[in-house]
Amino acid sequence: KKITIAIDGYSSTGKSTVAKQLADWLEYIYVDTGAMYRALTLYSMENSLIADGFFDKESLIKKLDDIEIAFTRNTDSGKAEVTLNGKNVEKHIRTLEVSTFVSPIATVSEVRAKLVEQQQKMGASKGIVMDGRDIGTVVFPDAELKIFMTASAEERAKRRYQELLDRGDTVNYKAVLANVVERDHIDTTRADSPLVQADDAIVIDNTHTNVSDQFHTILQLAKD
Ligand code: C5P
Repeated sequence: KKITIAIDGYSSTGKSTVAKQLADWLEYIYVDTGAMYRALTLYSMENSLIADGFFDKESLIKKLDDIEIAFTRNTDSGKAEVTLNGKNVEKHIRTLEVSTFVSPIATVSEVRAKLVEQQQKMGASKGIVMDGRDIGTVVFPDAELKIFMTASAEERAKRRYQELLDRGDTVNYKAVLANVVERDHIDTTRADSPLVQADDAIVIDNTHTNVSDQFHTILQLAKD
């Protein structure tokens, strides 16, 4: 029987890596909700809604109906990639600049309402793995399996830093660590749908576990 798997947790805990593997293995749909918030942030950057470290919340709310975020399949890798008004922006949404603005933008209730509605539609038929911050609490409170991933901030920053280096970005470890800590703070303290562990979520601390162990642990839970 196909189920809904909700994977939530702090930034850079490796949610998407394990979520993708599970979806491939189970032949489920995978949805990276962080990519949707990131695409909306990229839109704000490209349309001058962000200036001097602030964003123009009212203008963004007015423009929401003109913004279409979707996913497309990369024909080479077979992976789902995010599109913004029809343009594939997968390569542009993981920068430290987008990471800096995404959490403030994700505090806006109108933004969340739009994306949550879209996510619920995507998951209307079972057989989905979705990762984010509010999947088990808000998007799919009835999900059959909820996972909450954590790891130390230093370990997460180390992974994120390596990912950015691998992409060829010029980055500084301290700036990456500061961003991870800042996003956790904004995500856990925002008024609308703060990042909290669902009561029925199973916690996986992956500070010291590898991706393969996490995959097998969650797969076993999905089969139970
Ligand atoms: O998952 P990722 O780190 O790419 O998410 C980027 C940011 O988007 C998070 O730090 C959070 O502020 C926001 N987000 C959210 N709700 C989600 C997914 C992401 O608020 N379901």
